[in-house]
Amino acid sequence: MKLYPTIGLEIHAELMTESKVFCTCSAKFGGEPNSRCCPVCSGLPGTLPVLNSKAVEYIIKAGYIMNCDISRFTKWDRKNYFYPDLPKAYQISQMPRPVCLGGYVDINTDGETKRMRINRIHLEEDAGKLVHENRISLADYNRCGIPLIEIVTEPDFHSAADVTAFFEKIRLMLQYAGVCDGRLEQGSMRCDVNISLAPEGSDTLGTRTEVKNLNSLRAIQRAVEYEIYRQTELIENGERVIQETLHFNDATGETSSLRSKEDAHDYRYFPDPDIPPIIFTEEELAAIKADIPEMPQQRYERYTGEYGISDADASVLINTKSVSDFFEAAVKAYNNPKPIATFITVELMRRINLGEVDADNIPFSPEDFARLVELAETGKISKDNRKTILREMITAGESPEAIAEREQLWIKEDSELTEKTVDEILAANPKAVEQYRSGETKVFGFLMGQCNRALKGSASPAAIKQVLEKKLNNI
Ligand code: ADP
Ligand code: MG
Ligand code: ZN
Repeated sequence: MKLYPTIGLEIHAELMTESKVFCTCSAKFGGEPNSRCCPVCSGLPGTLPVLNSKAVEYIIKAGYIMNCDISRFTKWDRKNYFYPDLPKAYQISQMPRPVCLGGYVDINTDGETKRMRINRIHLEEDAGKLVHENRISLADYNRCGIPLIEIVTEPDFHSAADVTAFFEKIRLMLQYAGVCDGRLEQGSMRCDVNISLAPEGSDTLGTRTEVKNLNSLRAIQRAVEYEIYRQTELIENGERVIQETLHFNDATGETSSLRSKEDAHDYRYFPDPDIPPIIFTEEELAAIKADIPEMPQQRYERYTGEYGISDADASVLINTKSVSDFFEAAVKAYNNPKPIATFITVELMRRINLGEVDADNIPFSPEDFARLVELAETGKISKDNRKTILREMITAGESPEAIAEREQLWIKEDSELTEKTVDEILAANPKAVEQYRSGETKVFGFLMGQCNRALKGSASPAAIKQVLEKKLNNI
């Protein structure tokens, strides 16, 4: 009996609002513990929440980019549970009337396009953070009341690759839309995965487990793979999968039980009497939709179509929003997208991947970068020196022109120097010269390389080639 995995996701994403969702405290990450709290978000009795309209705008944008229906009528509910990270003892959330219903996102895995359906997206508030230190637990309420959206998918996923591709795609789209910063290391996106196995071809789903709070792509992938393995073992040994909530341990790569269905929560949802429902007008929704910036897929199509950039380079550019934004600004300064794209994907990305440059904080301007590409494209410096100058720009913080000047990297069409250097190279390589003259013209590349290196970019390749050809052929 072959077992087939089925997976559904619940993804939490923090919204990039300045202030929290029901009070005016800062919604920024971090801060001294309990320094960003007020009577509302720390749950003092008698306080009243006021809804942040920016959070509502952001969830509507999230809904549109995931092809959801936006409810014209939406309302808020209390989800009651008692835990020290939640000072009010209820979370304001949305149960029967979320802002977004339905929807889908297409992903590409295994060379196929797959449509992953969204069940709903609702708005809620985040809880605080508990810090456990030798036998005492401390509560930090700075995160209490930061707006969150919860994206619930249909069980349309069948492998870890499906899940990570979807998660990455959503993360990128939310970043481009300016809805969530997608900083996984700061916990601004977390994923719960629900996993079950059933015999291949079966039309009912198996019993599922839910692994909570995964906050890196790698953890998501490992947790899914481990659960598929664990459940397969159970079923093949004739045991049953128990419906339960699991925790993934990063150190061991295994899951363990948090709570079983028996003590599953009854949240006693009821409508929140403090926040009125909202009715959206068509005009309001249209204005929010019109404000959604270009999405990664649209940028990709513009890069490959209008700019003629290769599929691979276009993917690299769009996959990091800050890099794509940098590219956009560089093209504005020097309208020659192809060499700019190549230089970014080959050289700048290398520096980023080596950790020499922080993609979110590139230490030179896109205008300087664009001029550097232009200097090479117009033959003022050599392609090799373009790299040297870039490295200097990272550390020295000077303009490309200042570096070219200081390091004497300008191409000077000094034919005397070129002639002299070519003569020296030919004299030093009599064997290669002889080979060339007896018809082995392949060695031309070798001699060209020698001359290039000796001239250190102070003559253009075209000029060197001309001199070298002349000397080799007409002596
Ligand atoms: P709950 O409210 O108890 O978390 P939901 O019905 O809202 O349950 O489902 C939560 C998530 O679990 C959804 O993403 C859904 O797609 C997924 N899911 C539901 N049943 C299964 C199953 N048998 N196998 C895998 N995923 C499932
Ligand atoms: Mg759930
Ligand atoms: Zn507050």
